[in-house]
Amino acid sequence: MRFSRYLIPTTKEAPSDAVLPSHIYLIRGGFIQSVGAGLYNFLPLGKRVLDRVRDVVKEELDKAGCLEVDLAFVTPAELWKESGRFEKYGKELLRFTDRKENEFVLGPTHEEMMVNLVRQSVKSYKQLPLNLYQIKTKFRDEIRPRFGLMRGREFLMKDGYSFHKDEADMKREFDHMEATYSRIFTRLGLDFRVVEADSGAIGGTGSKEFMVLAESGEDTLVVCEGCDYGANIEAAVRKPAEGPRYEEGEAPEMTRGKFHTPGVKTIEDLARFFRIDPFHLVKAVAKKALYDEGREEIVVFFLRGSDELQETKAANAVDANELIDVTEEELRAAGLVPGFIGIEGLPEGIRYVIDRELAGNDTLIAGANEADYHMVGVSIPAEGEPFADLVAVREGDRCAKCGGKLRYTKGIEVGHIFQLGTRYSEPLGATFLDENGKARPFVMGTYGIGVSRLLAAIIEQHHDERGCIWTRESAPFDLEIIVSNIANDAEREAAETLYHALRERGVEVLLDDRKERFGFKINDFELIGIPWGVVVGKKIADGTMELIRRDGLERTEIPADRAIEEILGRIG
Ligand code: ATP
Ligand code: MG
Repeated sequence: MRFSRYLIPTTKEAPSDAVLPSHIYLIRGGFIQSVGAGLYNFLPLGKRVLDRVRDVVKEELDKAGCLEVDLAFVTPAELWKESGRFEKYGKELLRFTDRKENEFVLGPTHEEMMVNLVRQSVKSYKQLPLNLYQIKTKFRDEIRPRFGLMRGREFLMKDGYSFHKDEADMKREFDHMEATYSRIFTRLGLDFRVVEADSGAIGGTGSKEFMVLAESGEDTLVVCEGCDYGANIEAAVRKPAEGPRYEEGEAPEMTRGKFHTPGVKTIEDLARFFRIDPFHLVKAVAKKALYDEGREEIVVFFLRGSDELQETKAANAVDANELIDVTEEELRAAGLVPGFIGIEGLPEGIRYVIDRELAGNDTLIAGANEADYHMVGVSIPAEGEPFADLVAVREGDRCAKCGGKLRYTKGIEVGHIFQLGTRYSEPLGATFLDENGKARPFVMGTYGIGVSRLLAAIIEQHHDERGCIWTRESAPFDLEIIVSNIANDAEREAAETLYHALRERGVEVLLDDRKERFGFKINDFELIGIPWGVVVGKKIADGTMELIRRDGLERTEIPADRAIEEILGRIG
């Protein structure tokens, strides 16, 4: 390919809203073009990268026995009503009607569509298992589309769905997909980690995320320094925290009773007031939980004063679609006393959840549900209360698996695999006949990869201050030949000869044959990030060229008459 005939509109300036290197370089390098919030055009270079990434994904999935299909992007609302997600999905789901007033949804994910496909064509256990996938545009009306391809509204996703006769076979496929996904991300040159994840609105049990480790990642991961435990903070667990023990005679007066604590509302104030570690205090976090069909209620979550509430865990504990903040007026209207909410004496009818680590404690201090009073010596039974894991694991907490030290790291979610079970097959009435002729719902797994997000993730992990550094299997071209001065016949001819010879050997080459200054061309080479460059310049008169490795910009002189062998030997 000749640069002079190609459309690569590189620019010096980055758009003002671009803060991440991937966003800046993908635009500046002429890979993509913004057309509106979360909407992008892929230009020729960007399309080449997208296709290469997609090819890696497709190759590995096909090898793993998955079957590619292509489902309609516009999906009938009827299917979404059958699964209950038409209501539940919220505003990310773009709903619209056609000229006949039929309702539709632009596919944000395709569980319903795929179940519908299978319920029409699979009747018997003999046709199972089945793993169907597509690599297809998705639309989610994200509340905050940002960071370029990282969080678009329209984006390319690989979405796969597997169908099984039982749980055990689904779990086998889940492990098989974990291995397959790991191969895909390894081939793409990514440093990633597989972590335990929250199953979110999609439902189901057991899910793992594939996280590309990068400072700019939107997800916080909890990883263990002692073993291979890793989890999204939304799902991370820890060994129960051990707080400071009271020395003999040091414990505050733990005779049960109400204490006058005027104006003492926060955990810090309370800790100071009682001269006690927040570990022994009970924190009450009130939230408004939103459910289907506009139903809502106030829920109080109780946890140690030394812990913070993890909102995803909290929402899951009450099966809410979302938790939002609640005002003091709303609390008062519900009969609660802001700043003094406690477990004992909580008004009738207020829903509450207690963090599991508080179970069986009897030396706690909590609000008395009365202005300016706290209860001392509060005890919580070991069972029989609505307990759940509510805490946000912190750095320094201990690993539940090995006791090692936990720490945070940041990740970009590029893949997600779920054990779905019958969450969709049941409501949609998708059944097969088992060995005994009995109708049973399909047991399902679902598997996603953010194909367009991968472009951003690769660059987040592979760039320098000059631009992109594509990995071997993601690069738009294997090598770029830069002719220093196109007006020089010797340079031009040597470059042309090399260009043809390399192409004949199957190397994808971009020949920069533009009538531009050398410095300008080198800047473009560094910005675009093709893994290897060959400069054909003045030194061709002495029979040498220069080979540049983009990663590290290491330069080596190579003899022109042995250029092909040298290049093939190095670029691998
Ligand atoms: P996130 O938590 O980042 O919003 P998600 O959990 O909503 O992602 P899934 O429903 O699991 O995403 O979708 C499968 C994959 O699609 C994700 O792992 C991610 O790589 C990709 N993806 C999701 N949303 C977007 C988006 N708005 N833009 C680009 N890729 C996305
Ligand atoms: Mg996810």
